Amino acid sequence: MKYLVLLVVLVLGYAWWRGQRRAESPPPRRPTSAATPQDMVACAHCGVHLPRSEALTHGPRTYCCAEHQQEDAH
Ligand SMILES: [Zn+2]
Repeated sequence: MKYLVLLVVLVLGYAWWRGQRRAESPPPRRPTSAATPQDMVACAHCGVHLPRSEALTHGPRTYCCAEHQQEDAH
């Protein structure tokens, strides 16, 4: 009788755990996630737009590459 109670508890616990895991599963990927708004900046030399994380900064100006940064410095 004691083992039957233990078995019921285990089964219920497992069912609850499964339910919790299903609730924790990540939601379907949003179609807009690929186009998350990023802080875009323009190269001060050629005007090409690129994410701020990839841009080179020189004071208030941003550049797409080191060459343009150096050309504008002169
Ligand atoms: Zn540039």
